[in-house]
Amino acid sequence: MASLDMDGPYAFTRDEIHRVMKQSGPGTFALGEQTKDGKFKVRYVGRDDRDVKSALLDALRNEKKPGLLDKLTGQGGGNEVFKVSLAASADAAFEKQCRSYHKFNSRSQLENKDHPEPPAGQSMKCPICQ
Ligand SMILES: [Zn+2]
Repeated sequence: MASLDMDGPYAFTRDEIHRVMKQSGPGTFALGEQTKDGKFKVRYVGRDDRDVKSALLDALRNEKKPGLLDKLTGQGGGNEVFKVSLAASADAAFEKQCRSYHKFNSRSQLENKDHPEPPAGQSMKCPICQ
């Protein structure tokens, strides 16, 4: 089974993000749902080159718009959860996001519209596509 190599899953709530993330920095995260049989179903893989914690909080605010939330939680009756992983650098976070993106996008289960972009000002290539 494909693995994200991230910590979690944790309930996708403000309190839980603050509880889990004592520190922040570059990193990657995944949003999804925990199915009734306890599996984590990835819906979105994201990254932030400086502060993955605030990226999660932003994503949480955006998810709470009606419609998006229904879309995420309406299917399968699972609970919204996230996984997160800090990276040593923005470059490392980008590589990890690419690997996760390809691993899960191949199953057509991601809501990411586009391939991950490299960190601003960098010309790094995706380790899978190149
Ligand atoms: Zn790629």
